[in-house]
Parts: sequence; structure tokens; C-alpha cells
Amino acid sequence: MKRDIRLAVLLLSVVCLSLSLATAWQVWSARERTLAEIDTNNLNLAQTLDTYADGIITQSAMLLLGVIERLEAEGSGPAHLQRLQHLTERQESWLDQLNGLVIYDAHGNWLMSSSGHIPEGANSADRAFFIHHRDDPSPDIFIGPPIKSRSTGDWVLTVSRRFDDHEGRFAGVVAVALGIESFLRLFGKIDVGEQGTISLSTTGGQLLVRYPYREEDVGHDFSRSPNFRRYFSGVASGTASFRSGLDGTERIYAFRKSDRYPLVTTVALGKDEALRTWKNQAWLTIGVVLALLAIIVTIGRLLILDIKRRIDAEASLVSTREDLLVANHQLEILAAQDQLTGLANRRCFDERLAAESRRAGRDGMPLSLLLIDIDHFKGYNDTYGHIAGDECLRAFGEQLQQCVKRSGNLVARYGGEELAVILPNTDASGALSVAEHMLERINALGIGHSTSPFGRVTASIGTATVHGAQAAGRELELIESADRALYRAKAAGRNRVET
Ligand code: GH3
Ligand code: MG
Ligand code: MG
Repeated sequence: MKRDIRLAVLLLSVVCLSLSLATAWQVWSARERTLAEIDTNNLNLAQTLDTYADGIITQSAMLLLGVIERLEAEGSGPAHLQRLQHLTERQESWLDQLNGLVIYDAHGNWLMSSSGHIPEGANSADRAFFIHHRDDPSPDIFIGPPIKSRSTGDWVLTVSRRFDDHEGRFAGVVAVALGIESFLRLFGKIDVGEQGTISLSTTGGQLLVRYPYREEDVGHDFSRSPNFRRYFSGVASGTASFRSGLDGTERIYAFRKSDRYPLVTTVALGKDEALRTWKNQAWLTIGVVLALLAIIVTIGRLLILDIKRRIDAEASLVSTREDLLVANHQLEILAAQDQLTGLANRRCFDERLAAESRRAGRDGMPLSLLLIDIDHFKGYNDTYGHIAGDECLRAFGEQLQQCVKRSGNLVARYGGEELAVILPNTDASGALSVAEHMLERINALGIGHSTSPFGRVTASIGTATVHGAQAAGRELELIESADRALYRAKAAGRNRVET
């Protein structure tokens, strides 16, 4: 039963543990799946936006190439510049993102603007792109940091190239201005949630455009940020998860570097926001599983309590049964015992004599019986009182009990002051010697009896013996025979044995 409780507890623990582990695993794998899906979607989006940015830069580069070809072939005279102005003005309408195209001379002065308007005394020799081209003879395009346009006041990115005169000397710069606004318009149409961001930056770590737009972020340099160094440098694309250095929000980032230009497109989703659906689902699952666990534990507890109750009931049943056995045993003893002398009573004597007769018949062994009657006991009672008579009887019984050593022998109170001794497996001479020994012990007791001719309490004994097959079912005859012998003893003067 104790084992049953241990097994029930073990089963309960295994079920609860398995359920908890399975749930934890399910919740964890759902989170991993969600994160993997987010990474894939973000990477795809970053790839698409990178292609878009690439296309715009390529278009700008082609525009620059056309203008520079003409400038270098035809020079920068007023008539040529005017033709170029008309041409670029028309091309501008095809390229939404184009904020303007400006030609600068070798000193940074504005030679031409696609808008047709040149601000008074405008000079851009201080702009990063101008300084870059002036100092670097490379004919490659340069993507400059975001600047505030001097003609429109808008934030723009510049894509620029230098042009040289016939002697190969620096003659000026042509720059295309791309409005940040146009990028933001597109980025704004993409749903990245409330905490999501889309940004375009240089591979050097300078932020060009970031959606949602905040003026203070424009041109932000995060080249020294540990996250930039750790995740963005050295690889063409990837994903990462970290807390933004700009606004402290934890996001899941996916970035893609342009194959052709030093640009990086990054798409990021707020981690909390992106995992919200998963979190809700996880809490729901955990809630259901906790409820299930509570039900299982409750049922298990009831089961264990039930087993415990059954164990207690069984234990009390066992102890009651043991008490009953003890009581029964005592009852049996009481039922077989004579209350006054503590010897076997008449009922017990009858049963034992019958049993021993059968056994003697079966085994072919002798069986002897002694009948002992106290002499002049009536007189003893009359002289010393009934209570003294009882005491005498008890002492008598004790004395006789001590005379029989074999376990099969039985001393019983046959009735009144008459006692009987069953001696199984004892022949006539054995019975005689036991009877004589008893007589000696009774005499040796020396209980005074003034009205007896012997002066003390004595007894007469009659013995009878049957052998083997004669014994079976002949117990009454055995008693009668012993009784006759007893009578003879009485008649012969008492205080003697007759066989
Ligand atoms: P005898 O046997 O020698 O012929 O003489 P007796 O006086 O013993 O004669 P009898 O057997 O007729 O008397 C039996 C007496 O034993 C009668 C009764 O007073 C007494 N007696 C029988 N049972 C008890 C008992 O349980 N207690 C006491 N105190 N006396 C008993
Ligand atoms: Mg008698
Ligand atoms: Mg008597």
C-alpha cells in the first residue's frame, strides 16, 4: 500500500514534469519560429529596399554621367549650361526623388541649377562632397552626408562627381540632390509597427535616412557603436537583436549592404511589439497548462488521500483482527478452564479424553486415566468452612499439576472435589507410579484435617488403562473403570491407589 502511494506520487510527478517540459519546449520553439519568420521577412524587405535605393543612385549616377560627358566635351559656357539646365529640368520630372541638380565650378560657385534659380553669391566649397572631389582625382561618384539644401531648405542626400578641364585639372563638381522626404514617403508606406524603423546609411556608419523621421537623427554617426562594429561590419547581410543607441528601444534588425554602393539598408521591428502575438499565445498556453496541472494535482491528491485512508482502514482492521484473535484465545482459555483451580474444566477434559482415545486407538498406544477424590472433604468444609475448602482444593490442584511433566498429560477438575488426570501413552504400571507419586505429594502437603482419621487432607485414587484399538470410542468405559477403582480405594480405607 505504501508502495501504491509512492507509485501515485511518482506518476503524478512524471505527468506534471512532462506537461511542464512539453509546454516550455512548445513555448520556446514557438518563440524561435516567430523570430526566424521575423528575420526572413525583414531580410526580404531590406533586400527590396536596397534594390530601390540602388536604382535611385544608379539613375542619379547616369544623370551625372550624361551631364559630365557634355560638360567635358562642350565646356561650361553659358549657352551650354542653359541647354543642360533645360535638359535636366525635363529629366527631373521623371525621377521623383530628384530634388535638383547643381553644377559647381572649381571654387564651389554655382554655375547652373536645374531649377533655373541660383541663390545670390551661392558657394558650396565648404560642402563635404565638394571637398572630397576637389581633393580626390577619382572619377567615381560620391554619396555625401545629408545636408540642408541651400536652394530649397529641404534635407537632401547628394550624389556627386567631379569633372575636369581639357588638361585634366579639377574643373568643378556636378551634384544631384535626392530629397530625404521622398525616401520617407516610401518607408512610411511600409508597416513596421509603432516601434519599427527603416533606415538607409553608409557602410561607414553614417545615418542618411531613418523612418520614423527625427531631425536630430539625420547624419547621426554610429560608426563607433559596439553594435555596429559587431553586427554590421564585414558581412553583406544579416540579422541581430539589440537595444538602439538612438532611442533605447530593443529591436530585431535585418540589414542588407548594396552590392554596388557603400550603402546599407536596415529594417528593424520593436522586439516587444514583434513578439507580442507570441507572448499572448504563450501566456494563454501557460494559463491552460497551469489549470490542467491544478486539476491533475487535485485529482492526484484525492487519489493519494484515498489510498492513505485505505491503508489506515486496513491497519485498523488488522489490529482489530489481532485484538479479536487475542480475545478469542482468552475466551478459549476461559471456556476450557476451571475458575477456582485454574485446571482444565470438565468440558475440556471430555474433549481431550475423546481425542486421546482416538489417537491411542489409531497409534496402538496405551491410555491411562486417574480419578482422584479428596477424602472426607465434606467434613473438612464443615470444620474449616467452605472458603478454606476452596483454598484446599486450589492447593490440591497445584500439587497434582506439578506431578505431571509430559506435555500430553492433562489434569482437570472432574466435578466437586474430584479431579482427573489423562495420561496418554502410559500403561497401567506407569499410571500406578504417577498415582502413587501424587499420593505422596498430597500427604507431603500436610494440610491439617482434624476430623479425618489421618489428621490431614488425603485423597483416594482409582486408575484405569486401555490399550490400542480398545481405546477408540471407549472413553466412558475408561471413566467407569477408573471410578470403580476409586470406589475400591475408598472402600479399602481411603488414602490409597487402586487399579
Ligand atoms: P469421601 O469422599 O471420603 O467418601 O467423603 P466426602 O466427605 O468427601 O464425601 P463426598 O464425596 O460425598 O462429599 C463431597 C463434598 O465435597 C461435598 C461438598 O461439601 C464438598 N465439595 C464439593 N465441591 C466443593 C467445592 O467446590 N468447594 C468446597 N469447599 N467444597 C466442595
Ligand atoms: Mg466426591
Ligand atoms: Mg470425597
